[in-house]
Amino acid sequence: KIILGIESSCDETGVGIVRLGSTGEITLLADQVASSVDQHARFGGVVPEVASRAHLEAMVPTMDRALDEAGISLSNVDAIAVTCGPGLAGALLVGVSAAKAYAAALDVPLYGVNHLAGHVAADTLQHGALPSECLALLVSGGHTQLLKVEDLAGKITEIGSTIDDAAGEAYDKVARIIGLPYPGGPPIDKAAKQGDPNAIKFPRGLTGPRDPKFDFSFSGLKTAVARWVEGQEADGKPIPVDDVCASFQESVADVLTAKAVRAATELGIGTLVISGGVAANSRLSGLARERCAQAGIELRVPRPRLCTDNGAMIAALGAHLVAAGVRPSSLELPTDPGLPVDTVYV
Ligand code: ATP
Ligand code: MG
Ligand code: FE
Repeated sequence: KIILGIESSCDETGVGIVRLGSTGEITLLADQVASSVDQHARFGGVVPEVASRAHLEAMVPTMDRALDEAGISLSNVDAIAVTCGPGLAGALLVGVSAAKAYAAALDVPLYGVNHLAGHVAADTLQHGALPSECLALLVSGGHTQLLKVEDLAGKITEIGSTIDDAAGEAYDKVARIIGLPYPGGPPIDKAAKQGDPNAIKFPRGLTGPRDPKFDFSFSGLKTAVARWVEGQEADGKPIPVDDVCASFQESVADVLTAKAVRAATELGIGTLVISGGVAANSRLSGLARERCAQAGIELRVPRPRLCTDNGAMIAALGAHLVAAGVRPSSLELPTDPGLPVDTVYV
């Protein structure tokens, strides 16, 4: 069976196509993404109206490129999956409207799915089926969560999340403070390679003995970076950008990996999946590798292309739902900007 996935929750228009084999194996056939990130750069963050318009313009061309890449035509498609939340209301509406139109015209089932569960499903495209139980650390521009995944087709429980900024948001805000471009993750990652991670001692949020064990906080870290930079400027000293990046990044990677490994150990879960845009971070995956090896935990991190928003992960999640025999969504499928993570499909 051929399953097509449509993603439009933020600033990436994604169309992915997978094949679901008779024994349940999922093969990636196409993964096309059009991003409007350049149009948001000068605002330092995604502008919802601009994103919606860009989705509208990119949807059909991206669809055509995906069909081309897979070497199929629309008549070969057996089911359509689409992100119906969480995300930006107007942006979601474009993808869901397109998906409904294609599903109705082709007379194939429609599956409205959760974007966050999609990020976890992305890993199955690279590393195959997930074990019966795993822990997922989802780190992106809008989310930072620890999830217990018992079944991609329905049983996902949140065991911790950020109480303020998402990890990616912290990267984007810190980049702005030190004058690096948006989105901040890639340039900070690059600059940090030349810096000393121990140069400046930045705080590790929510790691005190009385703090919640599996929740995160990055807003204090961002403020600490801002104060430190202001202090340097007040003293007329230069800003050692590489050291600031390395020290900030060390705090983020330290806290994320320490809490994820602790959660896996305490819950007796043998596999950790890290996904979402920040999973592309070299220090995060490097430190996770070290700590998981020490703790005897299997680590799975999909390649960067599968970590950031894409349609392939939505197609993969759709394929899991088809394989599990889940009932399709109604053509009246609503969008839900605040869809909770435990609602894998609607
Ligand atoms: P969400 O999935 O929560 O709705 P999103 O669409 O912003 O949000 P992604 O596309 O998954 O999420 O990730 C984008 C985020 O990832 C940005 O904040 C960006 O700075 C961050 N990011 C990308 N590459 C890196 C990297 N190498 N290191 C750290 N952060 C990175
Ligand atoms: Mg994005
Ligand atoms: Fe995302």
